[in-house]
Amino acid sequence: MRHRLKSTLNHILPSSTQETFWRAYRRWRTRGDRYECPLCGARVRTLWPRGLNHPVLQTYDIIGGGYREQASCPICGSTERERLVYLYLTRRTDLLTRPARVLHVAPEPQLARVLQTAPQLDYLSADLYQPDVMERMDITDIHHPDASFDAIICNHVLEHVLADRQAMRELFRVLKPGGWAALQVPFSERITQSVEDPTITSPQARAQAFGQEDHVRIYARADYVARLQEAGFRVEQVRWWEEGADFGQPGNRYGLMPREVLFIGHRD
Ligand SMILES: [Zn+2]
Repeated sequence: MRHRLKSTLNHILPSSTQETFWRAYRRWRTRGDRYECPLCGARVRTLWPRGLNHPVLQTYDIIGGGYREQASCPICGSTERERLVYLYLTRRTDLLTRPARVLHVAPEPQLARVLQTAPQLDYLSADLYQPDVMERMDITDIHHPDASFDAIICNHVLEHVLADRQAMRELFRVLKPGGWAALQVPFSERITQSVEDPTITSPQARAQAFGQEDHVRIYARADYVARLQEAGFRVEQVRWWEEGADFGQPGNRYGLMPREVLFIGHRD
């Protein structure tokens, strides 16, 4: 019924006003003050569900993935992890207030919008597959000189990369001394060694083993941190629930994911 209403209205409304109309409609439908989206400023009574539900995600109690009831902003579509990174950017760094060269790999749409419109940033978006990026990039072989970027945002990418240690070394190499990289991945606290098997290659088998058709491993948190350290990073682990009002505590105002640790790799 709602789908029919939507297609009828889209037929009537000129395309230029459709998005504005539906945004206003979603704003009305979700009006309230339980959550606030730091990316678009919306105040809503509920977030929208999102995510996949493979059994392996429960087996390993994966944090940062899987099905969540309260996940995306109904107004702008931002996810918990995007909001977490944005809060880190604005509360813990000066990235949005000074000139800097930023590499954004596998750009999340809402974060990309913010970074692209920051006039003092020299912004480069990149990906191996995503079509609408500025540069085609294989992060295991980055065609940029050493120390090229002040900041790198490369979230939920390394769990897709077979040669993740090589990718980590490359990200470290192109980062300027004093720079940092946001390197979110889904992870498990239940295991100490990451689960991976390069002989598992079909999408179905990968979904079964790693929880998503294009994932190649499940990271153990401790092992993930150790790999980043091996590549040269000093790893900061931001536990947002310990960070007070800046991160919406108490009460999880910004709708962040319980127990999601934000991994920041620093190049000192
Ligand atoms: Zn939003």
